[in-house]
Amino acid sequence: MREKQLTRRRFLKDLTLTCTYSTFGVHTLAARNVWGKTPKGAGSKESATMEYRTLGKTGLKISALSFGVMRLSEPAVLFQALDMGINYFDTAHRYQNGNNEKMLGKVLKQYGRSKVFIATKIPPYYKRFGNKRLNHQKSMETMMEKSLRRLQTDYVDVLFLHNITNPEWPLHEEMLGFCQKMKKIGKARFAGISFHTTGQTYVDTVDRILEAGFYDVFLATLNYKSPPAHIQALKRARHKGVGIVAMKTQAGGYKPEENISLNPHQAALKWVLDNQFVDCAIPGMVNRQQLAENAGVIGKKIGWSDRKTLAAYYDEVKDRYCLRCGSCTSSCKKQVDISTIHRCLMYWEGYQDFDLGRATYRRLPPTENALACMGCTAPTCNCSNGIKISERMRHAHIHFT
Ligand code: SF4
Ligand code: SF4
Repeated sequence: MREKQLTRRRFLKDLTLTCTYSTFGVHTLAARNVWGKTPKGAGSKESATMEYRTLGKTGLKISALSFGVMRLSEPAVLFQALDMGINYFDTAHRYQNGNNEKMLGKVLKQYGRSKVFIATKIPPYYKRFGNKRLNHQKSMETMMEKSLRRLQTDYVDVLFLHNITNPEWPLHEEMLGFCQKMKKIGKARFAGISFHTTGQTYVDTVDRILEAGFYDVFLATLNYKSPPAHIQALKRARHKGVGIVAMKTQAGGYKPEENISLNPHQAALKWVLDNQFVDCAIPGMVNRQQLAENAGVIGKKIGWSDRKTLAAYYDEVKDRYCLRCGSCTSSCKKQVDISTIHRCLMYWEGYQDFDLGRATYRRLPPTENALACMGCTAPTCNCSNGIKISERMRHAHIHFT
């Protein structure tokens, strides 16, 4: 996607940067004992050119630019990232039907498991025929065993409950029991939750989990267009010692038009890392050019021209990019999951990954997908940011089914 927009000059510059990182940037520091007597996976290899931050109360010292592995299928890019000093890698049980974990496991085994941090995610619920049902602890344990086998390790550094949509779920006895047990028997060092929720549900999720006090890390959507209430919620969490990992940092990653002179993707990443309550960002990267592009941001502050670029970029994508503000949540009486469907469209149009968009769409139960929109003659859905929701929903349904 972004690879195509690089000019030849830009391409050469990126490669030069990449080589510089690889040849001169790496040195080794002593491992820190942050977890009992044995510094299991203490992340001993650090780069002089990478910035490291402490992941909240976990004490893990992770690279500010970390790696969202989800869509990557080229192991060489992971080796390149390791050479740059990236030491935190995020995957999930269901990414690429398990092949994502397998690829990461193979690379990290070769590189040295103890030098890096691995985060994976286990789905806490399944949806079938319109019902959302929590998984049993036993089936989550089975999934965890499978993930560990694929990752070729006997533990992960952070175990996330994946895609939480209800603030109460992580506190359910099956979920807590699962995470507690994984920590107790050493299969997970720390536990966290990931969520894509919108509006007040995002805030409620943060506050409910903080109140319970069990989870160590939040993996949450955060970018320069995030609602202020979401940003404040994450700040509260970090203040209480919860580690903050930012995802969806590029606000869709759409291809910018020619009239945007600076790089909106770099500007967007700078905005995220400029927030000191953020411990790391995990932009999804699928090739060396994107990796070099993101690494080019390290150590740079966001400036006036970056903000101008971001404003111009948003102006271009505002009819497509859902801010996840949640204002439209109750405007559809038929319970269409508007925000998830917008996310599916973003995977397709922004990330240029149609298969991911379709697969995510097809996981929606029929009662929540956009089938209802096809015959909706008097739409009540309304977007306060100007998106034509009914058109977008129909567009999704036509192409993803
Ligand atoms: S078009 Fe109708 S069914 Fe679809 S989201 Fe809007 S109100 Fe709901
Ligand atoms: S569709 Fe519009 S109103 Fe609804 S969450 Fe997205 S930006 Fe907000």
